[in-house]
Amino acid sequence: MSAEAVEFRARGLVKSYGAGDAEVVALRSLDLDIQRGEFIVLLGPSGSGKSTLLNILGGLDSATSGEARWRDHDLVRASEAELTRYRREHVGFVFQFYNLIPSLTARENVQLVTDIAERPMLPDEALAMVGLGDRAHHFPAQLSGGEQQRVAVARAIAKQPNVLLCDEPTGALDAPTGVAVLTAIERVSADLGTTTIVITHNSVIAGMADRILHMAGGRIAREEHNARRRPAAELAW
Ligand code: ADP
Repeated sequence: MSAEAVEFRARGLVKSYGAGDAEVVALRSLDLDIQRGEFIVLLGPSGSGKSTLLNILGGLDSATSGEARWRDHDLVRASEAELTRYRREHVGFVFQFYNLIPSLTARENVQLVTDIAERPMLPDEALAMVGLGDRAHHFPAQLSGGEQQRVAVARAIAKQPNVLLCDEPTGALDAPTGVAVLTAIERVSADLGTTTIVITHNSVIAGMADRILHMAGGRIAREEHNARRRPAAELAW
């Protein structure tokens, strides 16, 4: 594996919350390698450490010990300011709940990000990439749940991030709507060449990944290379 191709690397990564009898160990000496441009699905039961891992890889949280690197950046020893810069310039996040600002239109919600990004695309371009070119003037309340989530995807990718991190992006959606959101994620990942990680507990979604990482007990318990990656639209929900 050439050094330039590595996006994320973790070795012996530990995250614990609390101390003494109240200590909860969320990540237990986790090892991980993710290549640039990979589409990863992170599967595992609730409480297995998926969100904790994603938050550390995205610079939203810091680890207790061990190694986690994004390219040549040390995410464990980085200062708050360095993590903020890393998130702002390189990471797009999509969460289960869309977190749009209700008083702003779709375009204005995306613009919040493009205004502070270094090399943004136009908000309308980002909305067009998720199939919402004709909804730029709509407010969140005028959009369905799936459309709101696609605005959130547009907002995440409008800065042209290197990394797209999605935590249960279809968790609040029904199957057909979920497929439309996953199709948007798939399309922007391919068009922008992002390294993409999608957390889900729905194993059907794993069919769209290059590689599936199964988490259990705060570690990657197993990984599967998916030789027959299928488009989101062809997944059998
Ligand atoms: P998953 O995303 O797989 O459901 P999480 O990463 O959210 O798992 O949680 C892993 C473990 O860490 C769980 O036992 C959870 O209760 C615990 N945990 C997560 N965040 C916190 C926190 N802020 N404080 C205390 N414990 C936490």
